[in-house]
Amino acid sequence: MLSTMQDVPLTVTRILQHGMTIHGKSQITTWTGDAEPQRRSFAEVGSRATQLANALRDELGVDGDQRIATLMWNNAEHVEAYFAIPSMGAVLHTLNLRLPAEQLVWIVNHAADRAVIVNGSLLPLLAPLLPHLPTIEHIVVSGPGNRSLLAETDATVHEYEELIADRPTTFDWPELDERTAAAMCYTSGTTGDPKGVVYSHRSIYLHSMQVNMAESMGLTERDTTLVVVPQFHVNAWGLPHATFMTGINMLMPDRFLQPGPLADMIERERPSHAAAVPTIWQGLLAEVTANPRDLTSMSQVTIGGAACPPALMEAYDKLGVRLCHAWGMTETSPLGTMSHPPAGLSAEEEWPYRITQGRFPTGVEARLVGPAGEILPWDGASAGELEVRGAWIAGSYYGGAGGEDFKPADKFSEDGWLKTGDVGLISPDGYLTLTDRAKDVIKSGGEWISSVDLENALMAHPEVAEAAVVAVPDDKWGERPLATVVLKEGSTADYESLKAFLAEKVAKWQLPERWAVIPAVPKTSVGKFDKKVIRKQYADGELD
Ligand code: ADP
Repeated sequence: MLSTMQDVPLTVTRILQHGMTIHGKSQITTWTGDAEPQRRSFAEVGSRATQLANALRDELGVDGDQRIATLMWNNAEHVEAYFAIPSMGAVLHTLNLRLPAEQLVWIVNHAADRAVIVNGSLLPLLAPLLPHLPTIEHIVVSGPGNRSLLAETDATVHEYEELIADRPTTFDWPELDERTAAAMCYTSGTTGDPKGVVYSHRSIYLHSMQVNMAESMGLTERDTTLVVVPQFHVNAWGLPHATFMTGINMLMPDRFLQPGPLADMIERERPSHAAAVPTIWQGLLAEVTANPRDLTSMSQVTIGGAACPPALMEAYDKLGVRLCHAWGMTETSPLGTMSHPPAGLSAEEEWPYRITQGRFPTGVEARLVGPAGEILPWDGASAGELEVRGAWIAGSYYGGAGGEDFKPADKFSEDGWLKTGDVGLISPDGYLTLTDRAKDVIKSGGEWISSVDLENALMAHPEVAEAAVVAVPDDKWGERPLATVVLKEGSTADYESLKAFLAEKVAKWQLPERWAVIPAVPKTSVGKFDKKVIRKQYADGELD
């Protein structure tokens, strides 16, 4: 029999209405450089989002599930777009401003974006693409920037502030089916064309509730979160939606993402939480080592998107900042795991748990699959590919206008689980340890070497700033590790001493024979180590 409960749709609209009223006094603070930051309450952001919805409908003619793109930094206006677009029944499409031009063009055309809201400072990026973006009919410009770059375009150009000014602060929000599309984000296309993940109102709502649970980020309106992770990188890990649910204040860095301004921001605004990929925390560490700042307001930091080197965690422990490791991907909204140790342990006993990727929440079911498709036990030893399913996990990719959504066999199992491409093991008490990405693992003479293990061991060396290890072809073993290292300024370490250091931590047969000192590890569009580039540099003979 069916239940007797109400079937109320779970929507982004509801999150907006809740945040702007119940938590109307919470604030979004956007960094502006040297000047006083811009401060806007949730009530104001909600009213302005409502005005934006009115403008999009009345001025731009948005009346259905048209895709509206954003090419923006993390700021209050971007949050306004986050709520206005889905709440009126359209689809928010966040564009990754660090993608190569041809990928951006591909993505906008594939999604058939009707309009784009762009920060003025990003017009030099957008303007040259416009002749290749025939579906863009409207461009809405927000903030300072050179408008004359848009002189040639056929699209109609609007000023964000003028567009929303004097519009009504009420909107007759449509009653939406919770399963309809609210937002979309394309994977960065490291292999093949980018793939579009389309989040539903329901998936965003449920994911936001999970972000807010104590076993995940567990923040409240007493907190301020510094949202370094870009709003174009999996919805800033769900923070803009989660904050409107519980009134968490947001500190937005806008375009000031360099370590210096970030350190200033933290010292002046004293956020209690922050979220970013490991490379950001590496950069900030170097900054505050050279020019000390007080980071201790941050009682918890969520670090994910790539494996967090244990040495980095230790270094921040010493600064009084606790890094909490999380795993996820575009296809998982992204929250997949977080590494809170079990209760009742000493700091020493907590350590082995903290360096894992963490535990899965109720909403994410996981299994490990071996090479022959067999399901592996959670015994802390059997390593296999991680597969997941749940209410905020993608079940297919967007097929494009008129095209069919698709489920490539290397991404989805026959019974509908997402194949993550991540290799790891799970302990009997449910802690996930990722050893590698399937495509990064080093297959040496029938044995697998974890590139992440070698990197973590190397990055524990006091003179190593960064280390990235990749598989390179080897006549005898098939593949062997190549260790690329970035040395700290003034370091005198040589390959022999680095190898000797490594030999104390990993098995002898795993020790790399090939080494290269490089000025910086190449990074992807979301700040992760770009191993593809290193492999190519090696193949091109640039790293000998
Ligand atoms: P991209 O594939 O472009 O990097 P995503 O941001 O969706 O796009 O990346 C997801 C991948 O990032 C995961 O499949 C995993 O390989 C890696 N990842 C994310 N978080 C972690 C983590 N905590 N530890 C190790 N790897 C991680």
